[in-house]
Amino acid sequence: MSIRELTHFVGGKHVSGTSGRFADVFDPNTGEVQARVPLATRAEVENVIADAEIAQKEWASWNPQKRARVLMRFLQLAQDNMDELARLLSSEHGKTIPDAKGDIQRGLEVVEVALGAPHLLKGEFTESAGAGIDVYSMRQPLGVVAGITPFNFPAMIPLWKAAPALVSGNAFVLKPSERDPSVPLRLAELFLEAGLPAGVFNVVNGDKEAVDVLLDDPRVKALGFVGSTPIAQYIYETAAKNGKRAQCFGGAKNHAVIMPDADLDQVADALVGAAYGSAGERCMALSVAVPVGEETADRLVAKLRERIAELRIGTSFDEKADFGPLVTAAARDRVHGYIAKGVEEGAELVVDGRGFVLEGNEGGFFSGATLFDRVTTDMSIYKEEIFGPVLTVVRARDYEEALRLPSEHEYGNGVAIFTRDGDTARDFTTRVQVGMVGVNVPIPVPIAYYTFGGWKASGFGDLNQHGADAFRFYTKTKTVTQRWPSGVKEGDIEGAHVADTDHFVIPTMD
Ligand code: NAD
Repeated sequence: MSIRELTHFVGGKHVSGTSGRFADVFDPNTGEVQARVPLATRAEVENVIADAEIAQKEWASWNPQKRARVLMRFLQLAQDNMDELARLLSSEHGKTIPDAKGDIQRGLEVVEVALGAPHLLKGEFTESAGAGIDVYSMRQPLGVVAGITPFNFPAMIPLWKAAPALVSGNAFVLKPSERDPSVPLRLAELFLEAGLPAGVFNVVNGDKEAVDVLLDDPRVKALGFVGSTPIAQYIYETAAKNGKRAQCFGGAKNHAVIMPDADLDQVADALVGAAYGSAGERCMALSVAVPVGEETADRLVAKLRERIAELRIGTSFDEKADFGPLVTAAARDRVHGYIAKGVEEGAELVVDGRGFVLEGNEGGFFSGATLFDRVTTDMSIYKEEIFGPVLTVVRARDYEEALRLPSEHEYGNGVAIFTRDGDTARDFTTRVQVGMVGVNVPIPVPIAYYTFGGWKASGFGDLNQHGADAFRFYTKTKTVTQRWPSGVKEGDIEGAHVADTDHFVIPTMD
């Protein structure tokens, strides 16, 4: 198989890397290297920023409606190319085709919201805030902004960041994951085809060296990051130190509390999908089931075991597969390392996915579904994010203990409760210390016109992704207080004056 050499996308063109450094992009179904992606040098990233800075000035002068029309055409182009995009995504990430389409679609839903920019970017106005004084505010773009995104949603997360940023009049530099960069490069082509001026959306491939330039360069005004917690924290701290805006989203350990009154068949169906879908490589994957009471736990574990036996693991192109391989061998080995640790720490291994081999695809990065029971809070498989097809069951004695578990966990991304009782659900949604909550909904990713963001070690920064927060993040507010001399309209130009005030006292609106 020939190995493709990927590029950067700068100033409306594919540009070859010059660093001589590359990362391998695998086909996770076979384990073979299918492409290599260039890793940018400091100088290459600085050139992208310089280009973007020039392009942004012109782009920001377009009126919001005209900018939104570009996104409207992009939306149509992405929909027209959905099959091809999904195949490309699936071939590098390893998620199934329907799941890859979901990844793209959830990104496009934020583009749909960004079409409302003419309305969303309106400022405020107060007439006669004081005698002859009007006050108004406007939202202006920041300039050049950057996105640093993870491998697990190579379409959705770049679009969550780029759509609100672009429509607000910014130029965007995307540093996607080096593990699956082809979809971001394809999105750049589609933006250009949709009429976005060259240089307004750029893709620079790279690793820490490229990211550090984005963090240091004063021309980059804001950074949006999604990935693992240690890197999220590093980006947040460095960006803040350098006086930049940052919103950085990190890892997760999402719990599902299962009350004794829940419909356990519905719960078991929901849990296998939410724990094992996309091989567990979702920041909103449910990785901890918390059944309340021993009887609920025994019944739930039996139902999960039955369903796991029926799961079909196949290549990402297998139409009947429930999930495909992990993204790299290193990711699979890391997951298997956690399973060994869980056994060592005394958890009960109910189903072991480590032995799974797909006939004909022996080199692929596959792992079967794993289920642990009787996991306790001191175990590393409970404390740390595994990011693979591993579901752990922590048995809770009562509701209060179940509520405490996600609330006291280091991470606070998503959580769900399964119950038929509205009073329990209401108490849970009010008191749980987690950013996104599902009630009988296993993966409560908020829709595009609400905001997405976790709490505690899952999110650093004060504004969430998409929804109204995104437009606040990607614009700066300017507030104008104005008054005009009176008398001009009566023809008295000489005598026109603004009302006198005491210049030495702080003005108040008495
Ligand atoms: P990652 O942290 O390894 O990489 C994310 C990005 O950071 C990539 O672009 C990568 O090139 C870059 N990067 C990696 N190391 C760096 C370093 N030392 N300095 C600067 N940049 C660096 O994450 P990943 O493995 O690609 O993605 C999986 C992680 O992302 C999981 O922890 C998952 O929970 C998290 N995630 C979180 C959300 C959320 O919204 N909270 C959504 C999706 C994924």
